[in-house]
Amino acid sequence: QSGAHVPVLVIGTGYGGSVAALRLAQAGVDVQMVEMGMAWDTPGADGKIFANTTNPDGRSYWLRTHTKQPLSNFLGFPIDREIPLYTGILDAEEFAGITVYQGRGVGGGSLVNGGMAVTPKRENFPAILPSVNVDEMYNTYYPRANTNLGVGLIDPAWFDTTDCYQYARVGRKQAQRSGFPFVFVPDVYDWDYMKQEALGTVPKSALAGEILYGNNYGKKSLQKTYIAQIRATGKVNISPLHKVTSVAPAVGGGYTVQIDQIDTTGNTTTTKTVLADKVFFAAGSVGTSKLLTMLKATGKLPNLNGQIGQGWGDNGNVMVGRANWWWDATGSLQASIPCGGIDNWAAGGAFAEVAPLPTGIETYASFYLSITKNPNRAQFSWNAATNKVDLSWQQAWKQPGIDMARSIFDKINATEATVYRSDLFGVNKIWGDLLTYHPLGGAVLNKATDNYGRLQGYSGLYAIDGSLIPGNTSVNPFVTITALAERNIENIIAHDL
Ligand code: FAD
Repeated sequence: QSGAHVPVLVIGTGYGGSVAALRLAQAGVDVQMVEMGMAWDTPGADGKIFANTTNPDGRSYWLRTHTKQPLSNFLGFPIDREIPLYTGILDAEEFAGITVYQGRGVGGGSLVNGGMAVTPKRENFPAILPSVNVDEMYNTYYPRANTNLGVGLIDPAWFDTTDCYQYARVGRKQAQRSGFPFVFVPDVYDWDYMKQEALGTVPKSALAGEILYGNNYGKKSLQKTYIAQIRATGKVNISPLHKVTSVAPAVGGGYTVQIDQIDTTGNTTTTKTVLADKVFFAAGSVGTSKLLTMLKATGKLPNLNGQIGQGWGDNGNVMVGRANWWWDATGSLQASIPCGGIDNWAAGGAFAEVAPLPTGIETYASFYLSITKNPNRAQFSWNAATNKVDLSWQQAWKQPGIDMARSIFDKINATEATVYRSDLFGVNKIWGDLLTYHPLGGAVLNKATDNYGRLQGYSGLYAIDGSLIPGNTSVNPFVTITALAERNIENIIAHDL
């Protein structure tokens, strides 16, 4: 309600926001969550809540009239198509040098992601978050995050025999033939459900190629985990299709938060003003960074420090495909949920997930998403001419990540006498290097904030999402985002309530 006064307002309903809201509610605090995307709780005309990857429609993209698929081409042909303008689930947000994919809706990135739930190797952690106590993270907060997210591992015996992971077994064999360790990657997908999909006894999700545009059945998104717990407290109100546009100190204490209510074509229908004692920025690395950069530059929150908008990285994401010989068929049925990776982090700076290419036909292609130790960092800045926030990332800054990924795939190609595919990301383009799925940083812990996410310069303002992590987590990021949020909110509840 416009004019309302709330103790806590949380901007965004992804991992960071959900952890904050749950723990605050359990501590007895009433929480208002504000989410610019939709609720994703109502089936469309086809009886399903989410669209399939092979048949994108309005539900698939955030306010676009043309899809922007991460794999833009197949066999040399562009595969993007026209769709109706709608507040769909996947945002392909374009900056000058990079497209950043993000989830939109109640559940944030958990709605669209692959569910790969990876805890970094302990020895890599000090480089990820140098000011955070390693023992506390590995003894308390990573286990807490993994339990609450419902993380599990594929049954290795089933992996060895099921048709839908033929592609991953080829990935394992080829990695091992080149001397690289292959590791199973945990996931929040319900592995028992997937076995039933393979038996044909339940509606299919992973085995119907669902990923990117939502998952109708087997994946435990935040809707089924943290947000279900949040609803059970009865102390949290969630407002979808509401976008925060301003936060500024209120006369007499607290913060005035301005919120646009939007319709499903993105038009503002109402503007609301809420007074909040405390505000948690959990709009994701990009969303939080854009808000804070704008608020500092336009004089709404001038006391935020100079670290705002700094330290942004792409988690070193690069994608690539390889063409196999006919004896290494990767299967026409491919589970959309990756379950294994090639670990060459210590020696080559790359951890490569063996990813599906669920086209429904045999492609003889191996496909990979690599996370690399790319050291490049960008910054957000306010552009007064366009009234927008820019990101300084440049296309050429992906080169170190490509070189690190090649530490794995050049060797595999040499061993197997195979070549890279050049038809997946354009015409004669080998590397998927114009995008990231893993934006990180912009309000870095212990720099823009104190060591627990309290924004410097104001009391009662917090960042509690991927913006806290300076650009890289060495693996997929959401378990680390969740664990860090669990750590920070515990300290905030103990000292600030
Ligand atoms: P988010 O989850 O991004 O949540 C932020 C929320 O805030 C969003 O719902 C957004 O709509 C909302 N918001 C933004 N601005 C505003 C505003 N002004 N007002 C109101 N609401 C706002 N990670 C993994 O660990 N494993 C994977 O397998 C994996 N696969 C991925 C696949 C894809 C296609 C994508 C896009 C991402 C993937 N990721 C994966 C990354 C992971 O999803 C993100 O790192 C994670 O969701 C970030 O969490 P967060 O809490 O920082 O923010």
